[in-house]
Amino acid sequence: MGPAQTWRSWKSSVCLGLVLDFASLRQWLADQVQLLGGSVLLGWSALRSTHLPDGSMCTSLRNAHGELIEIASEWVVDATGQSRALIGEPVINADPMVAGVGLEWLLRVSDVQWQRWAGCLSFLLGSELVPQGYGWVFPMQPGLLKIGVCRLCDFRRSQPALSNLQARLLDLTGLHQAAVQDRHGGVIRSRICRSDPHVRGRLVALGDAVSTANLLGGEGIRHAIDSADVLADLLLELQGSTSASAERGLQIQYKKYLRQKLGWRWNLSGRLGRRTWLGLKDEQSDRRLEKWLTVLEKSSAEDLSALLFNYRFERFGLKVLPYLVGLRR
Ligand SMILES: Cc1cc2nc3c(=O)[nH]c(=O)nc-3n(C[C@H](O)[C@H](O)[C@H](O)COP(=O)(O)OP(=O)(O)OC[C@H]3O[C@@H](n4cnc5c(N)ncnc54)[C@H](O)[C@@H]3O)c2cc1C
Repeated sequence: MGPAQTWRSWKSSVCLGLVLDFASLRQWLADQVQLLGGSVLLGWSALRSTHLPDGSMCTSLRNAHGELIEIASEWVVDATGQSRALIGEPVINADPMVAGVGLEWLLRVSDVQWQRWAGCLSFLLGSELVPQGYGWVFPMQPGLLKIGVCRLCDFRRSQPALSNLQARLLDLTGLHQAAVQDRHGGVIRSRICRSDPHVRGRLVALGDAVSTANLLGGEGIRHAIDSADVLADLLLELQGSTSASAERGLQIQYKKYLRQKLGWRWNLSGRLGRRTWLGLKDEQSDRRLEKWLTVLEKSSAEDLSALLFNYRFERFGLKVLPYLVGLRR
């Protein structure tokens, strides 16, 4: 639904993707770790990782009762997401952090309600409804829907509370009386050029901690998995190696291979995301978005999916590039 509150739809005869059950994915990953002989410690916060004189690492963890433990290892992977709890977060003026906030509820709905939203991803756009962001309704398994709102943070203006935006969305979609099964939310923070430190000696970061969350679609799970894929291959190659050159090799290769994996469109999509969402705040931007949606209406569902999820701008022809990089409005 666009700013003028009209619905447009794009259909494909082939499956273009799936709605992921994130909780199940995390459970599956934890099970896999244990099956492979690893341990999963829940309820412990990693405080810091230090390099020991013998070249190994020591990581301190604390639980809710204040108990402390230390774990020694060859390498440490910081997978603490946008908090970057171990690798840290230096100020980089040339590539500042862009932050967004979101919340999402899992609703149990009647069969009739579920049918209304099944089989498609629904996005709700417009500065009246969600200024500087968007809302969504996604179908999960029969009887369950996800509904949420997210927006970029703009420290130059006061922004409405997410809970008010969510209430408006529930009213508009007629889902306000559905039973809420789960509520969650959080923060996305990425640097557009991904200048974050990736490696400090034997401490390596992945996922949101190295800005793999994409600001255009608010997507981060697939890209975090991509970073784990790249890093796992490199760490396997270095297994058992204690030389300082191994660390230097990793320092160079990890960033390079990850950049290659994410592709040349990455920075452009981040720029487009920041420009699109931060700019969506008044009637003028609503009119611009309506115009865009009218252009996109002529595209196939495949092309739209490729734009939103794989950042394939070129499918829309060279004439859209000036809009993407901000030369034309
Ligand atoms: C509301 C919302 C909706 C989203 N929807 C989507 C979506 O539909 N699709 C999508 O692809 N992405 C979505 N994202 C983004 C996605 O969740 C992230 O990009 C992705 O989870 C990043 O994975 P990660 O493993 O790097 O970090 P996370 O999944 O954030 O995992 C980091 C983990 O580290 C833990 N942690 C933090 N600090 C410490 C510490 N000091 N010690 C120990 N543990 C710590 C955290 O509790 C967390 O469990 C959404 C984000 C938000 C906020």
